[in-house]
Amino acid sequence: MRVIRVVLCLVVGAGVIVGAQGRGGGGGAAAQTPLNLPPDTERITQLKTEAVAQVESMKEFSQQMVDQLFSYGELGFQEFETSKYLVALLKKNGFSVEEGVAGIPTAFIATWGNGKPVIALGSDIDGIPQSSQKPGVAYRDPLIDGAPGHGEGHNSGQAVNITAAIVLKKIMEREKIPGTIRIWPGVAEELVGAKAYYIRAGLFKDVDIALFTHVGRNLSVSWGDGGGTGLVSVLYSFQGESAHAAANPWRGKSALDAVELMDVGWNFRREHLPLSSRSHYVVRDGGDQPNVVPPTASVWYYFRQVTYPGIKEMWAAGDQVAQGAALMSDTKLLPTRVLGSAWPRHFNRAVAEVTQANIQKVGMPEWSEDDQAFARAVQKELGVPQQGLSTRVGGLGAPVDPATNTGGGSDDIGDISWNMPTVTLSYPSNIPGLPGHNWADGMAMATPIAHKGVTAGAKVQAMTLVDLVLKPEVITAAWDYFKNVQTRTQKYEPLIRPQDQPAIEMNREIMAKYREKMRPMYFDPTKYKTYLEQLGIKYPVIKK
Ligand SMILES: [Zn+2]
Repeated sequence: MRVIRVVLCLVVGAGVIVGAQGRGGGGGAAAQTPLNLPPDTERITQLKTEAVAQVESMKEFSQQMVDQLFSYGELGFQEFETSKYLVALLKKNGFSVEEGVAGIPTAFIATWGNGKPVIALGSDIDGIPQSSQKPGVAYRDPLIDGAPGHGEGHNSGQAVNITAAIVLKKIMEREKIPGTIRIWPGVAEELVGAKAYYIRAGLFKDVDIALFTHVGRNLSVSWGDGGGTGLVSVLYSFQGESAHAAANPWRGKSALDAVELMDVGWNFRREHLPLSSRSHYVVRDGGDQPNVVPPTASVWYYFRQVTYPGIKEMWAAGDQVAQGAALMSDTKLLPTRVLGSAWPRHFNRAVAEVTQANIQKVGMPEWSEDDQAFARAVQKELGVPQQGLSTRVGGLGAPVDPATNTGGGSDDIGDISWNMPTVTLSYPSNIPGLPGHNWADGMAMATPIAHKGVTAGAKVQAMTLVDLVLKPEVITAAWDYFKNVQTRTQKYEPLIRPQDQPAIEMNREIMAKYREKMRPMYFDPTKYKTYLEQLGIKYPVIKK
């Protein structure tokens, strides 16, 4: 997903809003009045101060995790090294781990503690194809040409959560505070391939609050309908008949024709879709060689919209165009396959307000002159304004009105967010102005910029955990919002159908091609302090 800063505000629809505000549905100003949540007691303030100091003292531990995952650079559903490493680390730190959950080999749930509340901390772990890039080098310079890499920054979010969780675990043990902490990975987020299956498998059934983290350019959090979209990812496969393409073309039925006609048809249909629609496709199978009429062909679509009904409508339009293409080419449309799905995101107000208060206490990291010089050099290289790194935390993001939301990226955290109170904490581990899903988005992701951003995020997360385990009022308010505002009229229905299964074979071939070349470059923390040191990179490397 891409994090979009939200500047629009809207009125919360009717419904009971907990706290001082009473019945919502008033004007924008009323909707912005904070909920009546309890302030920090002296004990809570003390524990938060201790938690922040503990996170700071663990910054090398966090940095190693960031660098390790960066060096693995694994694609969705193939995060085997990443998963193995995180599971071992969590076990070593006293978590019990269930592996291979929801039928996904690289997924796991790590648990520590007892009783309520149950807090689930998640973050994505997968990379981007062809985004291999040397960190700390401000121009295109792949570690391995063509290989995948962390061109989205998903190597950093687990470190935020795990560092905060370990700090809280120590405090809870000593203070005998009840509660359960769960750690889970966003597997194959770039395929929006896992989280709906986590929900279907019941992995979050007893969870009170889900805290998600995502790399960003700032420390920020939001509530209500998020920016961006939800989506359904569908594979359309056609069956034709092969024939000698020159000797007997009239005997053949080209499945590739069906794919091309579907794409042409869809590109005409696009003009008549709502402005908030986004869609894109890649051809997965276009036949074998020109002298054989392609008997099979397939095309993979993402249909994105800002509401669940909008996604369903767009998907139905896609199905219709596919049927038309089959009719025109005299081929057969095979049963479609859903390869991924994501509900549009909606975040919890009470948890966001608590998180925002902690963001303000933590503030932005102190960037060095090298960090700023590197950021400006990357921005110069990309031809975007040379603004450097953000130095001020974001304000509390207000709800985006679906009626004026013109779309954007997605994250299957949306599915979690419609099943329990959830927020996404954005932490400042990357450079503003990058294109997203690109090698440039990996440049900072194993440098002090990423490391400092993670430590700042972990401080916020640790403080929010203190709030959640010691202020039951926050959890009550969170569920009140969830039940009486968020899901009052819109209930969750999965986009995945009963016959759909996790697409765990995806990316297998790409990783098989590159893994052995990448292996010698895995980070070795027994020999080097940082990945930059291992690679011999004198950060920041800037074009003269
Ligand atoms: Zn992402």
